[in-house]
Amino acid sequence: MWHRLTVRSRRRVDLIDVTEDISGLVRESRAQDGVVVVYTEHTTAGLFINENEPNLLQDVQKWLETIVPQDHPYAHNRVDNNADSHLRAILLGSSLSVPVVEGRLGLGQWQRIFLAELDGPRTRRILVRVITG
Ligand code: ZN
Repeated sequence: MWHRLTVRSRRRVDLIDVTEDISGLVRESRAQDGVVVVYTEHTTAGLFINENEPNLLQDVQKWLETIVPQDHPYAHNRVDNNADSHLRAILLGSSLSVPVVEGRLGLGQWQRIFLAELDGPRTRRILVRVITG
């Protein structure tokens, strides 16, 4: 069964730690061993795993702005004015697979799961499924 998480972003670019939500779904599933698939069904949001350290999150935002600047004459901006958001989402990706080990998320000590809002503020959805066997 797929679970749906709803996340509300507050800024155009907003990096939101959703680890506790995913962890709660893993606990509720009572799965001991397997994998949790995390998927976001949007073209201007992405998912990534990294450390929740405020300076690092500033660096991630600056890095996205450097690689994919907002003020470039993208073709898509003729219709929607958010090409940078789409390109940044492609860079980060739409899904993650995280091990479930002994009933818990098998993340490393500093690893957290983030939803990257890239064209907010908006309400976003994340699909989550714990797969065992
Ligand atoms: Zn667009």
